[in-house]
Amino acid sequence: MSHQEDCIFCKIVNKEIPAAIIYEDEETMAFVDIAQVTKGHTLLIPKSHEENIFELKASTAATLFQVAPKVANALKAAFSPLGMNLVNNNGKAASQEVFHYHLHLIPRYGEEDGFKYHWTNN
Ligand code: IMP
Repeated sequence: MSHQEDCIFCKIVNKEIPAAIIYEDEETMAFVDIAQVTKGHTLLIPKSHEENIFELKASTAATLFQVAPKVANALKAAFSPLGMNLVNNNGKAASQEVFHYHLHLIPRYGEEDGFKYHWTNN
C-alpha cells in the first residue's frame, strides 16, 4: 500500500496521529473532519496514498464508492440531517489542502447551517 512520509492522512491511517475514526476496513477509513463545516462532517479516504482524482486508480475509486453509502447512512442515522453533500477538491486551485484523496461527507440541516450554494462558508 503506498504511503507518503509527510502526509497527515497517511499518519492517521498508520495511527501515528489520533483521529475520530468512524469506519475502517482493509482499504478505506472514515474519520471526523478536524474543522467540521456542519455536525458530523466526515472524510472518507483510501488508505493508499493517491493524491487526487488525477492520480486515483479506478479500482480505488470503486472501493471508495462502495463504502460511501454505508458511511453516509451511518451519519444519516446518527445525526438526522435533511441532506448531505459529497465534495471532493482536486488541486490547489480547487481548494485542495491535503493531497491524499478524500471525499467530504457533509450532513446538511437546512439554511440555518449557513450553507446555501457552497460547501464552505467563505
Ligand atoms: P481539502 O481542502 O478538500 O483538501 O480538505 C482537507 C480537510 O482535511 C479540511 O476539511 C480539514 O479540516 C481536514 N483536516 C486537516 N487535517 C486533519 C486532521 O488531522 N484530522 C481530520 N481532518 C483534518
